[in-house]
Amino acid sequence: MSLAASCVRCPAPVPCPNHGGLAPLWRPEEPSYDAFAEHLAATPQFPTYLPWPMGPGWSVTDFASVGDGVERARATLTCASGTSELDGPVDVMVIAEEPGTGLGGRCAGTRYDDPGAEISYRTPTARVRIGSQPVSLWDISTSTADGEFDRSVLAGEAGGRWLWLVLRPASALLLLRDEWILRDVSRLGPQLLEIPFGGPRPVW
Ligand SMILES: [Zn+2]
Repeated sequence: MSLAASCVRCPAPVPCPNHGGLAPLWRPEEPSYDAFAEHLAATPQFPTYLPWPMGPGWSVTDFASVGDGVERARATLTCASGTSELDGPVDVMVIAEEPGTGLGGRCAGTRYDDPGAEISYRTPTARVRIGSQPVSLWDISTSTADGEFDRSVLAGEAGGRWLWLVLRPASALLLLRDEWILRDVSRLGPQLLEIPFGGPRPVW
């Protein structure tokens, strides 16, 4: 077992003194193919999205899930990292979660769990595709967050779950001018072997 449990809301180990009773977050000690296979085995009913195809030189630098047992996943997270000509090193975190889980809000630095109030009645900022399905995303303000947050946050809804994209640095939002494809890699099969893992992990 290379996935370690911690609190979904903060870096504390479980049981967390401040956030008791929540399903734990499962994160690998080191992102690797074997740990990712373990992650996918623990989340069979839940999508795990990656930007697809991964650009040359990009790798999966982090992933995690939330749940208190197989087939009880409430959220998944991946981080793909690489470089872009304009931004230098870029982190792209993708979080899919059931409402009220709080992982997306934690990574995004928002004060609320669910982005619904911020995305109603506005024109979407960007679109991604999941399979043949276009998914609208709205920019989410992180101006109320503590500290320095050089990131752009987008959120929308896909398959009845919140979908969050957290891009670092904030200027990497421009990469989304081209419509991205997010692939649910939980059903990828042998192509999984081609995904590179490792590299500096994002802080969240
Ligand atoms: Zn906690």
